[in-house]
Amino acid sequence: MSRRFDAIIIGAGQAGPPLAGRLTGAGMSVALVERKLFGGTCVNTGCMPTKTLIASAYAAHLARRAADYGVVIRGPVGVDMKSVRARKDAVVTRARSGIQSWLAGMERCTVFEGHARFESPHEISVGATRLAAERIFINAGGRAVAPDLPGIDRVDYLTNSSILELDALPQHLVIIGGSYIGLEFAQMYRRFGSAVTIVEMGPRLIQREDEDVSAAVKEIVEAEGIAVRLNAECIRFAPHGGDIAVGVSCTEGPPEIIGSHVLLAVGRRPNSDDLGLDRAGVAIDARGQILVDDQLCTNVPGIWALGECNGRGAFTHTAYNDFEIVAANLLDNDPRRVSDRIISYALYIDPPLGRAGMTETEASRAGRKIRIGMRPMDKVGRAIEKGETQGLMKIIVDAESEAILGAAILGVGGDEAIHGILDMMYAGRSYTRLQRSVPIHPTVSELIPTMLGELRPEV
Ligand SMILES: Cc1cc2nc3c(=O)[nH]c(=O)nc-3n(C[C@H](O)[C@H](O)[C@H](O)COP(=O)(O)OP(=O)(O)OC[C@H]3O[C@@H](n4cnc5c(N)ncnc54)[C@H](O)[C@@H]3O)c2cc1C
Repeated sequence: MSRRFDAIIIGAGQAGPPLAGRLTGAGMSVALVERKLFGGTCVNTGCMPTKTLIASAYAAHLARRAADYGVVIRGPVGVDMKSVRARKDAVVTRARSGIQSWLAGMERCTVFEGHARFESPHEISVGATRLAAERIFINAGGRAVAPDLPGIDRVDYLTNSSILELDALPQHLVIIGGSYIGLEFAQMYRRFGSAVTIVEMGPRLIQREDEDVSAAVKEIVEAEGIAVRLNAECIRFAPHGGDIAVGVSCTEGPPEIIGSHVLLAVGRRPNSDDLGLDRAGVAIDARGQILVDDQLCTNVPGIWALGECNGRGAFTHTAYNDFEIVAANLLDNDPRRVSDRIISYALYIDPPLGRAGMTETEASRAGRKIRIGMRPMDKVGRAIEKGETQGLMKIIVDAESEAILGAAILGVGGDEAIHGILDMMYAGRSYTRLQRSVPIHPTVSELIPTMLGELRPEV
């Protein structure tokens, strides 16, 4: 016998809990199933722990630079990794418990702890318990990929989850993958005091970004003593005493690096392989992403997929927006769509990179006639005052329609300042409107109108 509910939600990540709140608020009975940690990746092994650790790393970095500001610290700056971890654990535990107790106290919501598997399109099992509902929402998230590289099975390696449990400093951390997650850990551990090498197969870091942005990021990390090995086409691993030998290149530079620890940061895959989706007839693509339409319905009526598992965004804000889209369509008669969303994200190295919309390369490839505004951060008063002048800001506009197509702010406060541009893009306003705004002085944002006054054609 199955226990019947109006709706079942699989996963207490970024979309599941708020959806449970809306559905129960509308009078529905909801079963929410979570197999591991309430709050999912962002709260437990993603955004929150990393940004909390990054704050500790920033404090150490600033303390080491104290003399630049006329502040005297006598003796070396030390980092107590046990306290750093305890601070991170406290932040994460508070957030996780908040979600757990919110769900536990939610009227009409029953929480099941265990692994959910489809038995049929409207039925799932959680251990020996069977649950049934006309509507099932999958918010199963994703996990780190461990690629099948030569020797990987012969060495111990860390993932973005297991590295969070370290409370001692790696002597030499070798990070495989020069993208967002790898870069954040690289700078964080360098600032904690480890030697760090980033090993990237491709010709540059964060390859999805424009070359100038990617080059500026490389300059920032190298200035802190992080070694970067690009074009590492021969990555392989072997035990080396108590350390790990990481094969890097077959042609250029030293062929091998010896690290005390290896972190794999080479991407993530959706948690769709162990959901029994075949029993429900839910279609996935070759990468395991659950196929959805613009309103997040799967190919099976009554089943939706939200968040990272649907491949339509790999961020907390996109997962949360998926919840908003589903709730608006189901409960508010408001046909919100994924395609209304403008791509936006940040890379939380220091200084951070805030991004909105297209890169210059994407806009050119799309055949747009574009104009570009650019300003180095050492020509931004706020950055000079703060003594943090690395990076650049850049904006791309459509030469014909005057629409803002995209922007990147790599610089102090870039993760916040980008929102002035993003909001204008959502408002559908021409760049001239932003150019005539009167921003607050002194801010990073105040240079955005100036930059728009100096647009040049694409070369
Ligand atoms: C190191 C790192 C840093 C990040 N930093 C950022 C950042 O700064 N900003 C940002 O926007 N994004 C960041 N992300 C990405 C962000 O964490 C994810 O995109 C986001 O958490 C996805 O949310 P979700 O709701 O789709 O899935 P998740 O948060 O992963 O939640 C899915 C939940 O489903 C559960 N589950 C899975 N399968 C089952 C099952 N069969 N039965 C029951 N339960 C199940 C899981 O246990 C999990 O709790 C980061 C990710 C990582 C790894």
